[in-house]
Amino acid sequence: MNENNLSEEGLRKRLTPEAYQVLREKGTEAPFTGKYYATKDKGVYHCAACGFDLFSSDQKYDSGTGWPSFTDPITKERVATKPDMGEGAERTEVICPHCGSHLGHVFEDGPTAMPDGKPASGKRYCINSCALSFEEEK
Ligand code: FE
Repeated sequence: MNENNLSEEGLRKRLTPEAYQVLREKGTEAPFTGKYYATKDKGVYHCAACGFDLFSSDQKYDSGTGWPSFTDPITKERVATKPDMGEGAERTEVICPHCGSHLGHVFEDGPTAMPDGKPASGKRYCINSCALSFEEEK
């Protein structure tokens, strides 16, 4: 992947039409259709547009929503958020801080503990699969 070309033209060429629509036009993929909602492999999820490290499988959980869900980013600087007043509801948009691409939304209805008993944030980062690129841990 040529991660240097972040112009709209470059992104349009490099990304699938669906990924472009999600990342650059704040789209949402249909639930249970993306490639990562059920992924349980260990590794790191990068921004599909620029390659920035966003989320770890350690914070991923099955929310039952059909979108990849995380309790936290790798560190809190790894994602940016901003209020989103679209679609008649006030939500918080999740953005890649490196390239500004739309990733999904964050909600306050996440788990307070992970399946292994470790405490969790209570947040649910609901992220589009096509906004992510997974790198499996070797
Ligand atoms: Fe990015």
